[in-house]
Amino acid sequence: MKFEYIDTHAHVNFPEFDADRDEVLKRALDEDVFVVNVGTDIESSKRAIDIAEKYDEGVYAIVGIHPHEVMDLEKAGLIESTLVELAELAKHPKVIGIGECGLDFFKLAEYNPDVDVMKVKEIQEKIFRGQIDISIAIDKPLMLHCRDSYNETLEILNNYIRVQGVRLRGNAHFFAGSIEQAKAFISCGFTISFTGVITFAKDYESIIKEIPLDKILSETDCPYVAPVPFRGKRAEPVHVKFVVQKIAEIKGISIEEAREQIGANVNQIFFG
Ligand SMILES: [Zn+2]
Ligand SMILES: [Zn+2]
Repeated sequence: MKFEYIDTHAHVNFPEFDADRDEVLKRALDEDVFVVNVGTDIESSKRAIDIAEKYDEGVYAIVGIHPHEVMDLEKAGLIESTLVELAELAKHPKVIGIGECGLDFFKLAEYNPDVDVMKVKEIQEKIFRGQIDISIAIDKPLMLHCRDSYNETLEILNNYIRVQGVRLRGNAHFFAGSIEQAKAFISCGFTISFTGVITFAKDYESIIKEIPLDKILSETDCPYVAPVPFRGKRAEPVHVKFVVQKIAEIKGISIEEAREQIGANVNQIFFG
């Protein structure tokens, strides 16, 4: 696949873009920025596919269930049927991956005051494993969302790889773990992606320096975390250029080199 830049984790499928979705995607495509819209539940996953279907090239979908959504599904008794529906959606030719899925243990008790935290973790793991199974069955990569759960996520991935002997691949999005954890994801077959946050938070510099460029992807996670100079505004896919520019700056290489390698990485994982 040939493109200048690619936003590997966008949410132009979200309601924040209802008023000007076509213009936002046109701005990206006019500058040769490809867009991957990521679902967080069945509805937003379907919308990501609908949007991708409108374009011959340059707009793709990833379908999945975000860990924040799982307790509502559990309470409604919809976990099994949702995974069945997701497996069907995942077969669509515009779908290039499964996610965003994973574990999110951030403020778990606060967000789930009426449920035992262990129970929430258990349900998150169940749906995460269901999505790993789909990824393996249809041979499409995973888009991981992990927060305050890197070691637990790695344990699950390693269990698939070492115990069950399967090969996994994908990307750990909005990475905010340690260098050791990043290396552990890489050895499980994953790349690491960074958002606009790297343009204003210094915390990511050492990890970006340390991780090989052929294991790094660019994303915006729009509408969230717009990079400098758009900080505080709604982010959109064309802003991914500023993320790539910052990665190049931190690594001390040209934007061209960073852009080309990231493109090659995305092609290998998602369009291989
Ligand atoms: Zn996420
Ligand atoms: Zn996201």
